[in-house]
Amino acid sequence: MRYISTRGEAPALGFEDVLLTGLATDGGLYVPESLPHFSLEEIRSWRGISYAELAYKIMYPFVEGAIPADDFRKMLEETYSVFSHQAVAPLVQLDTNEWVMELFRGPTLAFKDFALQLLGRLLDYVLAKRKQHVVIMGATSGDTGSAAIEGCRRCEHVDIFILHPHQRVSEVQRRQMTTVQGDNIHNIAVKGNFDDCQRMVKESFGNQSFLGGKTQLAAVNSINWARIMAQIVYYFQASLALGGPDRSMAFSVPTGNFGDIFAGYLAKKMGLPISQLVIATNRNDILHRFMSGNKYEQHQLEHTLSPSMDIMVSSNFERLLFDLHGRDGVAVRTLLENAAKGPVSIEEYRWKHARKLFDSDAVDDQTTCDTIREVYERNEYLLDPHTAIGVRAARNCRRDSAVPMITLGTAHPAKFPDAIAESGLSVKPDLPAHMADLFERDERYTVLDNSVSDVQNFIASHWKNA
Ligand SMILES: *Cc1c(COP(=O)(O)O)cnc(C)c1O
Repeated sequence: MRYISTRGEAPALGFEDVLLTGLATDGGLYVPESLPHFSLEEIRSWRGISYAELAYKIMYPFVEGAIPADDFRKMLEETYSVFSHQAVAPLVQLDTNEWVMELFRGPTLAFKDFALQLLGRLLDYVLAKRKQHVVIMGATSGDTGSAAIEGCRRCEHVDIFILHPHQRVSEVQRRQMTTVQGDNIHNIAVKGNFDDCQRMVKESFGNQSFLGGKTQLAAVNSINWARIMAQIVYYFQASLALGGPDRSMAFSVPTGNFGDIFAGYLAKKMGLPISQLVIATNRNDILHRFMSGNKYEQHQLEHTLSPSMDIMVSSNFERLLFDLHGRDGVAVRTLLENAAKGPVSIEEYRWKHARKLFDSDAVDDQTTCDTIREVYERNEYLLDPHTAIGVRAARNCRRDSAVPMITLGTAHPAKFPDAIAESGLSVKPDLPAHMADLFERDERYTVLDNSVSDVQNFIASHWKNA
């Protein structure tokens, strides 16, 4: 499989290079040159197979040529065996024909584990083959950092440095990162805010001379193609469990960077009958505003009870814009260059096409809390604030009650106790058994000044072969 850039100028790459590359050299994102397509008959034949086997069927075409089938199969077995539920992505019923797919049974209790557990293993496999080493550098305001660290903890050819703002992440979030033991894991608490951390990462990627040419930086952020690829699988899994592909499904997806829902769009293009995809956002609603009025305009960042969806722009949306523009990279580049300066629109017929593909809704904190409370009172089931936004949007946008509506449950409620408390519920969500001793575990992290050279010196002197 070959991959091309959404801005049309960077060279096409194979899977291995796409895995190790962040942005394309022209500033675009990589997408597969063509998608595999599965017939209904083939999809039907997958009923009852394990999650790992299904993952193999769906993802193998994307890695073919880079990873032998047996190695890939084994890697997937390992990846999905660390999830705490035998079904990996179990479904919970909320109402007649309405479901939540629990994607939070991985090591860090959020759906990002589905992709990052695989990504770590893919990276290590490819780096071993190439006899290469990389330093993963990332900034986190909480969630992604722990999933990335857990994904890389057993990687021999990767050192990972995650920057978080000192004393500005919740204790659960900090402990999920700093209690993971491993010589290749390095947590840095920067005496600054999240933007300072992000700026340092960006600067370091721009000039990697501090590494002395002995290793290179790699990114595991949500634009990495391998992450999107891994997220396609659970759409098929849910559908097969509820009578697909012989009936079509609707999905509602709590959305930030547009990675998760883009995977749903790909599942549909690959042959899975999906009749509705709902983009569910919080008050950071650039996508909902675009879908409702064909105006793509950046607003100020708002801090909400669903912090993992607090974004100003959704980076993966570029991948959809590429398709909406007939895969014309020049058109995408022009549009996004203009979008950086002010509001933009796309041609009416392209926008109408987007509206056929997606519905959307924006949900504020108050309604998020109301939804958590309502669902708990009716079902004795606790939603985390991100999933609650998905459920609310699903209910507001539903087109056909005969079609199963599945909301992606993106995080475990115990990760966000504040939102549960704000909902007026006195129930306290417990951490699952494998994390119950989180507050007794030893922590390891280094506090550094808000200085890019301090951070770079630390990295240069602490990676494996430094
Ligand atoms: C990352 C995240 C999201 C948003 O997913 P995108 O792929 O960025 O749209 C939603 N909920 C939770 C809990 C997350 O961690």
